Amino acid sequence: METGGNSLPSGPDGVKRKVSYFYDPEVGNYYYGQGHPMKPHRIRMTHALLAHYGLLQHMHVLKPNPARDKDLCRFHADDYVAFLRSITPETQQEQLRQLKRFNVGEDCPVFDGLYSFCQTYAGGSVGGAVKLNHGHCDIAVNWAGGLHHAKKCEASGFCYVNDIVLAILELLKVHERVLYVDIDIHHGDGVEEAFYTTDRVMTVSFHKFGDYFPGTGDIRDIGYGKGKYYSLNVPLDDGIDDESYQSLFKPIMGKVMEVFRPGAVVLQCGADSLSGDRLGCFNLSIKGHAECVKFMRSFNVPLLLLGGGGYTIRNVARCWCYETGVALGIELDDKMPQHEYYEYFGPDYTLHVAPSNMENKNSRHLLEEIRSKLLDNLSKLQHAPSVQFQERPPDTELPEMEEDHDGEDERFDPDSDMDVDDERKPLPSRVKSEFPEPEAKDMDDIRENEHNRELDLKCSEPLA
Ligand SMILES: [Zn+2]
Repeated sequence: METGGNSLPSGPDGVKRKVSYFYDPEVGNYYYGQGHPMKPHRIRMTHALLAHYGLLQHMHVLKPNPARDKDLCRFHADDYVAFLRSITPETQQEQLRQLKRFNVGEDCPVFDGLYSFCQTYAGGSVGGAVKLNHGHCDIAVNWAGGLHHAKKCEASGFCYVNDIVLAILELLKVHERVLYVDIDIHHGDGVEEAFYTTDRVMTVSFHKFGDYFPGTGDIRDIGYGKGKYYSLNVPLDDGIDDESYQSLFKPIMGKVMEVFRPGAVVLQCGADSLSGDRLGCFNLSIKGHAECVKFMRSFNVPLLLLGGGGYTIRNVARCWCYETGVALGIELDDKMPQHEYYEYFGPDYTLHVAPSNMENKNSRHLLEEIRSKLLDNLSKLQHAPSVQFQERPPDTELPEMEEDHDGEDERFDPDSDMDVDDERKPLPSRVKSEFPEPEAKDMDDIRENEHNRELDLKCSEPLA
């Protein structure tokens, strides 16, 4: 497998990873309303497949702690969170101005339990980040998360709170640099916007571009200020198949891993990029989609796997079940086991489905142009004057770190997982100081900058 020459330890793919899987049995009951394509039921279908394929016994299965107001407010505006908490289908008619202001009503309807739904899916993603930060697992999975369109003060594209941004903020407490990769068919606009001006988070989105929601994600959008070249956009056209997709994904992500060297990776696995999606127009097979998971897993960097879009729900469940198997290093039988949603998968009752014969509008020439443009942008990162960047020591072994966490016991209390850091001093030495800082003259300067950055992050303002 091509790894773009990255030098991180990368064992054989067969090597087992410790996986934490977040699931709330209530999540399948939330209902966006009649005719709405977003169906949380798909998460329950995925879980049923995992159970009957025997995968749950290989993972640490966790019910997420609901994210609290203050957790959500690390990214979102207080008044927006208060609105989400208080709005109900019964009272929404009295709140028309607020609904409009926060873009709630049409694509993002008010439904029963909306706020607890947000708390649940965000709790899973932040909880996954906490597990990774503590070194309790190698891969954390939250298929209910990945709602990448939500903005600081606005719902968008079926997303209300941005669990991904919240999870990345959590990972940044421990990791100097976090990589976000988005293979949903839609541009990962909410996450890109949140981190557009920072070099601590690199966002890479592969998406359909051109007369398609949300309209952003031009190849020329590359980040701003300190964040210049730390946003990457891969614009694609209808009908892209596995081979074309991987001809971009592997060289680009291999190069990103080599030059950015993230301490943790968040992979949004939106399944609306699969062939036959109700809203999508790509032609990926489940194996082609999962190849992205396999590739990112091969770098042996703490990995958070999230869901996202996906509107042909039987295929979403197939895909996320198969990708859970990939996370675990277990290949699943194509013949599906009997389970409570078995009838959804007829007439073949198989895990995999053949892609269609639709036209691939992505010409070789265009793909080559995109690849070379993006690799060129990445080479500007590589050649930036960032000596510290090149000299980054190996990642700290977090499990060992835990043994000398004197005075930090409450950080490891599962009940306090999500209010870490609020009144705390910055974590000594957990965030390493080899941060690329061209202006800094020596390590002390860098540390001081880092310290300030950490304090900044607690208010989560500079990232917005
Ligand atoms: Zn999508």
